[in-house]
Amino acid sequence: MSTTKTSSFSVVRAESTPVPSLPPFGQFIDGAFVPSTSDTTVHVVNPATEEILTKVPAGSVEDVDAAVAAAVAAKEGWAATTPKEPAAVLLRIADIIESNRELFKTLESANTGKTSMVAEDDISSTIDTFRFSAGAARAYNTLGADDYAENHTSVIFREPVGVVGVITPWNYPLLMAAWKIAPILGAGNTLVLKPSEQTPLTTLKLAELITDELPAGVVNIVTGPGRVVGNRLAEHPDVDLVAITGSVGSGQKVAASASSSVKRVHLELGGKAPVVVFADADLEAAAQGVRSAGFWNGGQECGAACRVLVHESVAEKFTELLVREVSDISIGTPGTGVDVEIGSMISGDHYERVLAALEDVRKDGLTIAVGGNAIDGPGYFIEPTVVTNVPAGAAIASTEIFGPVVSVETFSTDEEAVARANETIYGLAASVWTKDSARSLNVPRQLDFGTVWVNSHLVIATEMPWGGFKGSGYGRDLSSYALDDFSRTKHVMYNRG
Ligand code: NAD
Repeated sequence: MSTTKTSSFSVVRAESTPVPSLPPFGQFIDGAFVPSTSDTTVHVVNPATEEILTKVPAGSVEDVDAAVAAAVAAKEGWAATTPKEPAAVLLRIADIIESNRELFKTLESANTGKTSMVAEDDISSTIDTFRFSAGAARAYNTLGADDYAENHTSVIFREPVGVVGVITPWNYPLLMAAWKIAPILGAGNTLVLKPSEQTPLTTLKLAELITDELPAGVVNIVTGPGRVVGNRLAEHPDVDLVAITGSVGSGQKVAASASSSVKRVHLELGGKAPVVVFADADLEAAAQGVRSAGFWNGGQECGAACRVLVHESVAEKFTELLVREVSDISIGTPGTGVDVEIGSMISGDHYERVLAALEDVRKDGLTIAVGGNAIDGPGYFIEPTVVTNVPAGAAIASTEIFGPVVSVETFSTDEEAVARANETIYGLAASVWTKDSARSLNVPRQLDFGTVWVNSHLVIATEMPWGGFKGSGYGRDLSSYALDDFSRTKHVMYNRG
């Protein structure tokens, strides 16, 4: 292992990275890997080393149509199962992932530049998602039958929606696939999933390892670009619901394409989470919270604690504590130990985007209190960065940077804190730091975000719903609410006269 000294940060690099076990080449359609109809391929890169790992098909509209046909053919049989059967399959999938934990971790880290710490958490959460959905699918009931009109008895049936198209992002490739696959199958649907073109490997590996557990056609995976493969899933007349986790722009395009067939749309989009630190807060705990939740996965996290709003009376003290925390963050390539906190950016393009945002910060005359620079390659590493002296409405505090960058603004009253926190197009997540019980009860109620933590940030529970308001979309992942989102209700009324 070698250590490169760059500014005040050390980058720990593993001397050799284990070669991950790659999935087969091809599209996973109707229970087998088959050739794509497209000759074009996409390189899959290790962003921590810039090495090409493999290539996958840049799929076509015809690939999607074949996968959707397989999902349609499988839909009746899978929908006819009672909850016990999909639940048993989900439990077996969880066991398969658990017994291949190291393989999935290595593959995920190699494809994303994630540290061991994050990859470990991703795989544990993936397993938990499948286990939770197995139980939730069996425990999920509708209202009992009753009379609401004279001489008529009403019965509510919960039915699968049918064929679900799923589009996933690159930041948590396997986990985001699991957040969809588990409730979609648990609710009795079949699916066609398109992983991010940059990070398809763990999703394809999952398909390879679970082939024998599912009837052919229940799960299909098609790789390729969003504008071709993702767009076809959104517009396909035989896809009954399309679910995307991704940026606001991609979500808007998916919703527009979906409108031609009036299908249901499930949107989990971007975020810019405010962290509201009141004067009475435990400032050390808040600074430590931002260290872990602002820089988790290198800040490539939709709920990242990336926008601090701190009361002006404690801003100086809090900033000092935060800068001390962030100066101490460890950076490294995958395979460099469980205590390494942040890895590389996902790609050269994204690295350039984050650096351009930091360049704009400098042009705007804001203060970079720590970090702010690229780190020498190979690999797309950027220093963990804190930007201070940020005025209301500054670009750095309102656009999603999706990198290791936290900005700090100040406020003077509770009303201003709430108004400024809500002044964003996003509505995914926020946190409030206070020791005052009235504030801890009242402020979360006034914040326009799907998740609000009090004295914490980015703690996710599989039993609890995850999803946003406003520009962050309206789908709910995790919890039994996800089963609702992937089900439809039917009312049957019997005339007893
Ligand atoms: P992205 O929007 O670029 O891509 C997401 C997926 O959408 C990819 O598979 C991509 O190929 C596909 N896509 C792109 N254009 C499309 C189109 N026109 N039609 C159909 N599909 C299309 O996002 P990304 O860069 O992969 O991921 C980062 C984004 O995801 C961030 O904005 C982040 O906040 C968001 N995200 C949100 C959550 C959440 O739970 N809300 C979780 C993770 C990531």
